[in-house]
Amino acid sequence: MRDDFDAMVIGAGPAGSVAAMVLARAGWQVALLEKRQFPRRKVCGECLAASNWSILDALGVGQTYHAAAGPELKTLALLRADSRVLADLPRGPAEGRPWGRALGRETLDTLLRDQARAAGVTLLQPCAVQRVDGRMGDWRIQARALDARQQHILRAPVLIAANGSWEALPSGLAHPLPRRRASDLFAFKANFRGAALREGELSVLALDGGYGGMVLADDGLATVACCLRRDRLEACRQAQPGLRAGDAVQAWLLQACRGVRGALAPARRQGPWLAAGPLDPGIRLRADDPMFRIGNAAGEAHPIVGEGMSMALQSAWLLGASLLEGAGQALPSREGPASAAWQREVAVRYAAAWKRQFAPRLRLAAIFAQASMRPSTSALLLGLARAWPGLLTQGARWSGKTRDITQGLSASPGAGAARARPRQPGPSAFTKEQP
Ligand SMILES: Cc1cc2nc3c(=O)[nH]c(=O)nc-3n(C[C@H](O)[C@H](O)[C@H](O)COP(=O)(O)OP(=O)(O)OC[C@H]3O[C@@H](n4cnc5c(N)ncnc54)[C@H](O)[C@@H]3O)c2cc1C
Repeated sequence: MRDDFDAMVIGAGPAGSVAAMVLARAGWQVALLEKRQFPRRKVCGECLAASNWSILDALGVGQTYHAAAGPELKTLALLRADSRVLADLPRGPAEGRPWGRALGRETLDTLLRDQARAAGVTLLQPCAVQRVDGRMGDWRIQARALDARQQHILRAPVLIAANGSWEALPSGLAHPLPRRRASDLFAFKANFRGAALREGELSVLALDGGYGGMVLADDGLATVACCLRRDRLEACRQAQPGLRAGDAVQAWLLQACRGVRGALAPARRQGPWLAAGPLDPGIRLRADDPMFRIGNAAGEAHPIVGEGMSMALQSAWLLGASLLEGAGQALPSREGPASAAWQREVAVRYAAAWKRQFAPRLRLAAIFAQASMRPSTSALLLGLARAWPGLLTQGARWSGKTRDITQGLSASPGAGAARARPRQPGPSAFTKEQP
């Protein structure tokens, strides 16, 4: 295997696979490193907004996604204790397919990873990045293949962190971990078969000390995901001594929300609860960062708005567009495109575009999350939503669900793929799908 690349991408979640794929389509030699085996379950509500269909189509996975995903999501149900308010979800930008859908992460992430590999990306998996050294224009990664117990040393001028938000990168460049607080959020997710959920309805749970969501995903499976404050989680565990954390959370959800009781009464859980945390919502991206960050590694919105995967796919697309636009027809080299000076210019442009696109979503998600977790404000929220359900519809619009990011880009990676490039993979690797 070669050890010298144009770009190295750490993490094969939605962000990493898309960024690797976009650059490989343009002829770059890309290494994608992922420490977990796929398919793997992941803590996530699994709803993908319709604003992403143009990206999935351009990457050649749209048809496969739509063949596998759960029902179209047309209605938002806000649930709190015994109450339930319904609102329309806004229509997305794609002609003929305006609704979001849910698909298990074991399927989505594997689909994107496989397409990246088909595009010519060199995949190292399961392979954990253990050390990152270097600087813009000259990076060195030490990684350990977990199955073969083999060490790899890889080099590239461009480094893209797509490692999510659960663990810091093993380098001096990692952001410090925040202090422990009672308000820290811990995330849980489980799948259920036979749940009494209405097709096409996305339920958002406003809980005292947390928030969550329920939806019908692929293969008739329901996904239930939630975030609980540390103090609420401790109270749940004290109320259910001897139970595992996920089971204690399930018992509390059933007691706290009538909608959850109704949905899960006839259901059987499939597999254990998954847990992760604490969450660290906020912006991690900085214009003077020596490496590029995408997805949760760049910034994380409170999951209550279900926009994390959108931001992962869209930030990867945005970075791909920024790198390819800056490079023009040239391939990266340490002197030309991908030199430190060139990358600094791209980084400033990318950071500005990222903040324009995503900072408002983070702010709105934080307001909605805080309002949903406190009894007084969540009662007010429910009252307002009952009187004006259009407020919820508008909130979903403001959270980015109707915006197609590819429309605003001067250089689309989709268009870049059509350019003749010396090292471009054969046309069979990418077939642009039509909606
Ligand atoms: C409770 C909850 C519900 C959510 N619901 C939704 C929803 O309904 N809709 C939505 O759009 N978003 C939702 N999200 C957010 C969404 O899950 C994330 O935003 C999304 O997974 C981010 O994608 P990513 O590619 O940036 O990172 P990830 O998906 O986290 O992928 C990062 C990858 O990097 C790998 N990695 C990490 N470190 C290393 C290393 N050192 N070496 C090699 N590999 C490494 C990891 O194994 C992982 O596979 C939810 C989140 C939570 C917590």
